[in-house]
Amino acid sequence: MEQRDYEQLADRLKRRGFIPHIAASKEEAKAQILDIAGNGSVGFGGSSGIHSLGIYETLKEQGNDVFWHWKDEDKAAARRKAFDADVYLCTANALTMAGEIVEIDGTGNRVGAMIFGPEKIIVVAAENKLAADVESGIAQIKKNVCSGNARRLKMKTPCAATGSCGNCISGDSMCRVTVVFSQPTRNAKEFHVILLQEALGL
Ligand code: SF4
Repeated sequence: MEQRDYEQLADRLKRRGFIPHIAASKEEAKAQILDIAGNGSVGFGGSSGIHSLGIYETLKEQGNDVFWHWKDEDKAAARRKAFDADVYLCTANALTMAGEIVEIDGTGNRVGAMIFGPEKIIVVAAENKLAADVESGIAQIKKNVCSGNARRLKMKTPCAATGSCGNCISGDSMCRVTVVFSQPTRNAKEFHVILLQEALGL
């Protein structure tokens, strides 16, 4: 996607009440995240992309309180603490060209925090998460993200076995709630969206 398309997408996000940032590289995205987080406590949503940026480690080294169920021994407590942090950091499962953020969750901690958790939210929307519209975004998430995560977590789902969604509704299903953010909720005082012009995560 060209620079002017990113600028147009940033404008659409802004009109919806999000605070857009354009990052040309992962390093730039990381610097933006650290700047927005400041010295606040930071809760993390599950994300292999965020993991690969090494932000948890950097924040910890510089003295921020950090809560991440991927890192902390007591996963349930980490999820709860993340909900009450100053800042919540996660990735968009998909971002439509109209500026809507689409998330599919199994446990619900991530979408719960984005809806009614910390007042400052930071969402990284990488190039490989862009989708034409909500419908194609959902299909893209199920194909790429859910099947990959289901395999990683050794879930017995149709997508883990075949790579295609079988619309499972029980057992190990990872797709228990689908949320479309057409705007930030009233709870979010600052909802930052970092448009990363590189691929990140599944
Ligand atoms: S609904 Fe089930 S099969 Fe489809 S992507 Fe989600 S977990 Fe996989």
